[in-house]
Amino acid sequence: MTVTETTSYPLRFSLTPSPAARAEAEREEILADPGFGKHFTDHMVSIDWTTAAGWHDAQVIPYGPLMLDPAASVLHYAQEIFEGLKVYRHADGSLHTFRPEANARRLQRSAQRLALPELSVEDFIESLRRLVAVDGQWVPSAPETSLYIRPFMIANESFLGVRAAHKVGYYVIASPAGAYFAAGVAPVKIWLSTEYSRAGRGGTGAAKCGGNYASSLLPQVEAYENGCAQVLFLDAETGSHVDELGGMNIFFVHKDGHLSTPALTGTILEGITRQSIITLAKDRGLTVDETTITMDDWRDGIESGDITEVFACGTAAVITPISQLLGSEISIGNPDAPAGELTMSLRRELTDIQYGRTPDRHGWLTRLDA
Ligand SMILES: *Cc1c(COP(=O)(O)O)cnc(C)c1O
Repeated sequence: MTVTETTSYPLRFSLTPSPAARAEAEREEILADPGFGKHFTDHMVSIDWTTAAGWHDAQVIPYGPLMLDPAASVLHYAQEIFEGLKVYRHADGSLHTFRPEANARRLQRSAQRLALPELSVEDFIESLRRLVAVDGQWVPSAPETSLYIRPFMIANESFLGVRAAHKVGYYVIASPAGAYFAAGVAPVKIWLSTEYSRAGRGGTGAAKCGGNYASSLLPQVEAYENGCAQVLFLDAETGSHVDELGGMNIFFVHKDGHLSTPALTGTILEGITRQSIITLAKDRGLTVDETTITMDDWRDGIESGDITEVFACGTAAVITPISQLLGSEISIGNPDAPAGELTMSLRRELTDIQYGRTPDRHGWLTRLDA
């Protein structure tokens, strides 16, 4: 099977301003309490791809419904991938995003796995710039708020045969996001899914695709019913070691200060937050073991006091402390455990970089409004 390579020239974007763009007062009202994923900005990016023409028709258009033929292949065979990143407003008003090249490259890897076409890193970043150029005022300024950007790619060929689509759409939408922990960072309980798996060997676990999320929703319901915020998945093959949460990676802090996190074995999503935490921890002289972590390691580590902190990480919540793991036959940790010290210190350092409160020594920020 061949997947057409990225076009080698940069795309040129046209702009159609929205006739229904919200007035400043309405926008400010939304930005005062945006929640997450509920409100969308006035515009979106759309780029088309066909096997014959490659990527073309790059546009910034009014935000609105897509026209999809009922036979569009994404609706039947879930040929879809996405990304998630944030735009942060710094104290001087400038707008920055975090490691967008890493998102661009991950979108390319996801595209490869889902037999979708690759978009170049340059075109990906330009698509963010173009959207922010028209909708930059939608980036809130209150502490810990951001504009969440959701690039995604779908197969939209009208064809019910089962094969990689010859017609694809790439879109970018944006949604203002409030502080994830509005009342202060609070540790969460997570639910151990023993009945369901997220990803198997050779599957799509390392790709950021909607299909992975579809299969995680039922165990997520189970988690809610048991008072937990998120689901922890074990590896599908042995059911004995920790993979990741439905949408976040996981870390353990040990008594001697070193960290451990499940190695990237192909069934785990390669989080950019995960990678950044590894770098920041190593900068501090801490060892980070990317390794196999069994459920026994976790239970014994908590019981013996070797594991002192557990946290999850991802773009949306940055770092979330985990107080307790619950399952139908298991309970590890204490629901009242406070957020760990290193957990909170790494969270602070990462958000300080993202919001421009500390020097960006790794060159992780890309300014989007200049
Ligand atoms: C997106 C995602 C993550 C976190 O990745 P970040 O790049 O840190 O946001 C972790 N696990 C899954 C399954 C994801 O989809």
